Amino acid sequence: MIILAIKTCGFCGSNIEPGTGTIYVRRSGNIVDFCSRKCRVNMINLKRVPRRTKWTKEYHTIKAMRKDSIKPPVEETPVEAAPETVQETPASSE
Ligand SMILES: [Zn+2]
Repeated sequence: MIILAIKTCGFCGSNIEPGTGTIYVRRSGNIVDFCSRKCRVNMINLKRVPRRTKWTKEYHTIKAMRKDSIKPPVEETPVEAAPETVQETPASSE
């Protein structure tokens, strides 16, 4: 029985089909899996951050979390302006 672990891309967060993708090993020993050349170039060469790249899964999850935390503003009923009170000064009798 062969168990194929489905890995996720280190940049975009999508599932990598077994037998495809690339493994990048950093000099420090950390291993990063990539689903495509696009993801590898974006992270390694272009040094982009998944959190700030719009087409990644991480960006969308953060965006959704931000959307939930900020509630839509409650519509306030416009306060009717109080009628201006005209103070009538008694006419000075001459
Ligand atoms: Zn990817």
